[in-house]
Amino acid sequence: MVDTKTAVITGSTSGIGSGIARALAAKGSNIVLNGIEAPDAIAPIRQSIEKEFGVKTIYCNANMMEPAGAEELIKAATDAFGQVDILVNNAGIQFVSPVEDFPHDKWQAIIALNLSSAFYASKEVVAGMKESKWGRIINIASAHGLVASPFKSAYVAAKHGMVGFTKSLALEVAEFGVTVNAICPGYVWTPLVESQIPDTMKARGLTEEEVKRDVLLKAQPTKRFVTIEEVAALAVFLCSEDASSITGSAQSIDGGWVAQ
Ligand code: NAD
Repeated sequence: MVDTKTAVITGSTSGIGSGIARALAAKGSNIVLNGIEAPDAIAPIRQSIEKEFGVKTIYCNANMMEPAGAEELIKAATDAFGQVDILVNNAGIQFVSPVEDFPHDKWQAIIALNLSSAFYASKEVVAGMKESKWGRIINIASAHGLVASPFKSAYVAAKHGMVGFTKSLALEVAEFGVTVNAICPGYVWTPLVESQIPDTMKARGLTEEEVKRDVLLKAQPTKRFVTIEEVAALAVFLCSEDASSITGSAQSIDGGWVAQ
């Protein structure tokens, strides 16, 4: 379905990005992994993808908060594989705090990684995709790209911005065989969610179990976490030919959260 394409997935050493990398590899794409870990730490992940799916992988630990990081990542991808066919802007972080206590550096980091990095990386690949008359850009936004929760002001602002960026870029490239879509997951059990539990306990004065039940899963009518594999399968579908007319969209995969 995806054939031998080259897929770059930012923030793919863990969680959702790692799942998307594996799912695209399963469809035959060569994979460019990215994250902040040292290359040695990621070697076992590369080896397991190459062995399991018979594709090639590289890893680049470019910092996606910076324009230079995006340039470095896309250069590494094109040096290794010639071109980039699929870009998944997935790298993201979270910080939970009331606005009056929200540190400036945390705000700036979230906006840089969760929003600006999608612009930086897309800017590097759009010309090549337009030239080859085929391309897929998938922005991993969030249910928080469509609705808000308290104490997540930077994250909600960045994810709403990402949905807007998705629409604008989709219009620019629509006639070139390039689609641009946002995926808006509800809560997926990954290190990003696990690590925000202590701060949420503090901000709301709740126990761990209360945070899971009354904050996280309260938002999801299905009362279960979305799985990494479900998000990855949606990303693979958006990369298929059958999804050629889906562009500029924000695809909810949230157990009914934003239907409420
Ligand atoms: P995660 O913490 O498991 O993984 C984050 C990844 O980002 C890691 O690979 C890490 O190395 C990488 N990263 C961190 N800082 C980076 C930087 N400066 N440059 C490059 N890479 C960097 O997170 P996750 O839960 O899999 O989240 C992935 C994306 O999905 C994020 O954008 C997140 O906002 C979004 N999302 C997650 C959920 C959820 O419930 N987990 C829900 C909706 C949306």
